[in-house]
Amino acid sequence: MTHYVIALSGGLDSTTLLAYILRYLDEDRSRIIPVHFQYGSKHNEYEEDAIADVLAYYGIVHSRLRTIHLEEVFSNMKSSLLKSGGEIPEGHYEAESMRQTVVPGRNLIFMSIMAGIAESVDCDRAVVALGVHEGDHAIYPDCREEFIASAEQTILHSTDRKVYVYPPFLRFNKKKIVRWGTENMVPYILTRTCYKDQPIACGKCGSCQERLEAFASQGLTDPLQYESREILPKSPPGAE
Ligand SMILES: [Zn+2]
Repeated sequence: MTHYVIALSGGLDSTTLLAYILRYLDEDRSRIIPVHFQYGSKHNEYEEDAIADVLAYYGIVHSRLRTIHLEEVFSNMKSSLLKSGGEIPEGHYEAESMRQTVVPGRNLIFMSIMAGIAESVDCDRAVVALGVHEGDHAIYPDCREEFIASAEQTILHSTDRKVYVYPPFLRFNKKKIVRWGTENMVPYILTRTCYKDQPIACGKCGSCQERLEAFASQGLTDPLQYESREILPKSPPGAE
């Protein structure tokens, strides 16, 4: 029986991923291994609460969660997403300024650790599941198909073909994820998306903007509380 090691951040994508995978498992939660990475991001601590709520909602005992501490490792990396980095940029999620939020080595390191956890499970076949999606491709090189396919080959080789990579949203955009999730009762009110170091979602960072736009495009209202719900243009007026 396949076991699923799932990268869970408490965000919209990974929560939908969990719901997507649970469809295959009936009531068997024992094949789910949620993993949360603490890597020194500004929003890491808020993710913890969201993850706890999401796990409770889906009837997964919190003790199944593996929390991996990588603050020391990522203190060497440069990104505005990290506590050691500069201000989180505001604006459209595909704006050039959002490249400041790329975290060097993130998915490469995360997937390596998840593959190790998956390889350690007492089963014949395990899967590393990620919520990466099409909307990430423009800015984040470690979310693109080329990288994911290459990482899967590396993981297959390193685990003697025991561990596979499962990125079901790789060809979904955020809108499609939100539509699927809403149709399947994903509890988006429990999730955490904002990149900033504050409890209430700002509504202005790229992550909040992408989420607000995805809901709006489907004629849906995001149940989350925001400081601002205005959808910003891709480029500031007069910039093009
Ligand atoms: Zn935000």
